[in-house]
Amino acid sequence: MGKRERRRRRQRAKEAARHRPKPIVRDFPEGPSAVIRVVVPPEAASDLAELCFRYWERTSTGRWAYSVSELGGHAVPRAVSGACAAVLLNVPCSTCGEPAEVANRSEAAVVGGPMLDDPLRGRACPSCKRAARERRDEEQRLEQERRQRAAEEAARRSALLEQKITLALTQHRGMRLPDPLPRIDAVSTLVYEAMACHVLSQPGTPVPALKELGDLAWTGSPAQDGEALMRLRGHRLIAFDESSDRSCFALDEDDGLLYNIHGIRWRLVADEGQIKASVAALLNAVVTEHGPTADQRRRALASLVEAMDIDEVVDYLDGLLTVEYGYGPVPQSRRTELHETIRHGLGAGYTPGQMNCFAWRAADTAAGWKERHQASEGQAASAVVTILRSKIDDAQERRWAIPEYDRRYWQQSPPAHSHGRALVAEVRRVISEEAIRRCSACDGEGLTDAGTERALCRHLPTSRYSRKSIPTPEVRGTPSAEAAMTRQSECIGPSV
Ligand SMILES: [Zn+2]
Ligand SMILES: [Zn+2]
Repeated sequence: MGKRERRRRRQRAKEAARHRPKPIVRDFPEGPSAVIRVVVPPEAASDLAELCFRYWERTSTGRWAYSVSELGGHAVPRAVSGACAAVLLNVPCSTCGEPAEVANRSEAAVVGGPMLDDPLRGRACPSCKRAARERRDEEQRLEQERRQRAAEEAARRSALLEQKITLALTQHRGMRLPDPLPRIDAVSTLVYEAMACHVLSQPGTPVPALKELGDLAWTGSPAQDGEALMRLRGHRLIAFDESSDRSCFALDEDDGLLYNIHGIRWRLVADEGQIKASVAALLNAVVTEHGPTADQRRRALASLVEAMDIDEVVDYLDGLLTVEYGYGPVPQSRRTELHETIRHGLGAGYTPGQMNCFAWRAADTAAGWKERHQASEGQAASAVVTILRSKIDDAQERRWAIPEYDRRYWQQSPPAHSHGRALVAEVRRVISEEAIRRCSACDGEGLTDAGTERALCRHLPTSRYSRKSIPTPEVRGTPSAEAAMTRQSECIGPSV
């Protein structure tokens, strides 16, 4: 559009405004004391306009000039309020500041008082009140809509959640063991083995959820085991059991399925025969794989088992002090030192059973010391740590033979503990110089060729060594390694 065209348009608009008919405005009473202004739109019929003015006409004494019945009866106010606007000139609204608009005489009296000039004193004019009411209604409507949408969304998510849970719980159907089996970490290996034991000893029952196993879980740490379970599921070695509590599941913001690892029950993928074979293969991989990654995994296994051993001795000592002597456990301030002391003893070559013996003797000595020195129970429970250390050092220095003490009746061990010990023992046997020296199937480093890769030799008697047949334990006086491993995977119940 050009400049000229725009100018012409502006001019035409001005012309139109000039010729547009104007509303008729009258104030009552006429003159400077006016309290009401009546505005009648130009298109109103002249008799209706006249009725409006008469209706609102007010005398200077503050009375209506005409009564409603004089004007035509009760239909008049409605006709008037539809045909014109009336405002009280001296009654500004607290909200909009404009003179308050009123619909009829009775509203005018309510808003402006008998003389129609009473200020609103903080109140809003009828149209502002109406607007506020409309706003409130609109907000309520929106809120209602929002609730409705939220309810619909909740119903949608609830249906989706049910659908996803069903899918997740039935996912195991048709699942097969991965081939080849994945390489899994030390914790996962022990957890898988302990779970397999459960399945083989109680066929047809689900593997319990972590929370059902209690504080010890599989390896003594529910948090550590929860992570292992997630990895095992990721490797498709285990799956959710259908008996899992459906309240363990939830949806995240993006409709993804979340689950509470502590509440899920599990099942192992594949049948019992395949489970036995996969456990044996996974354990064999831990023992025989060659290379830095495999070495690292064996170290992780050893420290995991050591941690369980330490916990067991700590538990033994705490139990003695609490149950037998009534002192209470070793105080918190000395627990790190206690752990270190037990680690030191195990590192010096003492077995957990021998460490229990040291703990027993230390508690006994601490009790005697307490009596002689009139010490408190807390002091005795603290002193036991120092005594334990000196007993280990003495025995080491003087090369005393230390017997092995079994766990006490009140002690519980995590199910994976015995599996871990057996596996660590087998790892140690396989890398022992003596076993390597005696074996004719491997080189000086204990390595052999397994297929295309170098692997650690299990040093099994060559004539009987075969993956399919299991050597009879009696032949060498002690159970052969493979037989020991197989027994582990066939064990009945997780406890030892
Ligand atoms: Zn207002
Ligand atoms: Zn060998």
